Amino acid sequence: MNRNNSERLFAEAQKHIPGGVNSPVRAFKSVGGNPLFIKHAKGAYLYDEDGNRYIDYINSWGPMIMGHTYGPVVEAIRSAAEKSSSFGAPTELEVHMAEVIKEMAPNIDLVRMVNSGTEACMSAVRLARGYTGRNRIIKFEGCYHGHADAFLVSAGSGVATLGIQSVPGVPGHVAQDTLTAPYNNIEAVKSLIEKYPNEIAALIIEPVAGNMGCILPEPGFLAQIRSLCTRNGIVLIFDEVMTGFRLARGGAQELFAINADLVTYGKIIGGGLPVGAFGGKREIMEKIAPLGNVYQAGTLSGNPIAMAAGYQMLTTLKNHPEIFADLDKRTHTLADGIHDVLEQKGIPHTINRLGSMMSVHFGKDKVTDFDSAKKCDNQMFNKFFHHMLNEGVYLPPSAFESWFISHSISEADVHATVEAVRKF
Ligand SMILES: *Cc1c(COP(=O)(O)O)cnc(C)c1O
Repeated sequence: MNRNNSERLFAEAQKHIPGGVNSPVRAFKSVGGNPLFIKHAKGAYLYDEDGNRYIDYINSWGPMIMGHTYGPVVEAIRSAAEKSSSFGAPTELEVHMAEVIKEMAPNIDLVRMVNSGTEACMSAVRLARGYTGRNRIIKFEGCYHGHADAFLVSAGSGVATLGIQSVPGVPGHVAQDTLTAPYNNIEAVKSLIEKYPNEIAALIIEPVAGNMGCILPEPGFLAQIRSLCTRNGIVLIFDEVMTGFRLARGGAQELFAINADLVTYGKIIGGGLPVGAFGGKREIMEKIAPLGNVYQAGTLSGNPIAMAAGYQMLTTLKNHPEIFADLDKRTHTLADGIHDVLEQKGIPHTINRLGSMMSVHFGKDKVTDFDSAKKCDNQMFNKFFHHMLNEGVYLPPSAFESWFISHSISEADVHATVEAVRKF
């Protein structure tokens, strides 16, 4: 497979952009080799600058749930752009956007739009601190909530991929307010709460973790978290930046029948444009400026092109719940197919999956938290990744990332992917 143009562009990019990329995991640093430069995409497929075609299992890290160039979203963007790309004043579309979010996640009373998942999580934590008058937060090892200072403690995603232990630039006094517990370990959460009574403002969690590979909450884990937070006056924040509108119409909240106090969104909510949102209980949300003094703002928040794209995407998902069943079925077939082939080959592995999120870890042991994810054979993953890439299958270039299946991926694509694994 000829990748000359990607190689040339990466050499050029490194002269001007740190590491040649605008977000670290894109650089292929942990798997080795050169990243692909993408020219365009359609449906299930990416096309690189050398004209090679790949089945896309990243889907922009989640947003492209319908696949690329989904007609209604493209049309919405085009027609919004003609009316100006920004006003910095309220628009009718923002009202509709808030309404559709509330219809999909009915426990949300008020919602504010921002420009990324990072901003959503950062703002939700500030709000929880302002509301409770407490400073500490609990997060889980290997969970990723964006790159705000408070979250870069035992973080997943690129921080895990690059093996960064502690992030220079995050002040110690900020990091010390972030308490961490292993995912799926309720006892660890209990002891943190006992150790710091009346000091914990919020507990933030990915209800299904997707930034250390895909890791499912064990039965009852989220419900226990919910009741611990309620009993101790801790604001429960579900970070649904990844799971929101991917696992079900109402996201993980609906799937697990648990209401968080605040919820953050990103990725799918913008239909591929830079959008995030946080929302929740009226009593808490009313503390935000201009109603309250917890300040939060954004020049481009609620941007009309982004709202047009996001609204169209959410409306599609709201009106077509069968999409979630289709995605589940297709991903199930994929996971089973890969499992069978790896088993025939005698390669020890774990495939964790929920709906259209999944990941493949190599090793004998179950993967239930960050420690078990880190113990997997990542050399094997790197070989697997490059093998699949050469077969025209674009997987996340890290074992610490989830795969995302789009609605454009067909049975035939799944079959081709499984056949590619057979050649590994
Ligand atoms: C991607 C992600 C974020 C950060 O979103 P950005 O838009 O990259 O800032 C936060 N939380 C989770 C769970 C994510 O997957």
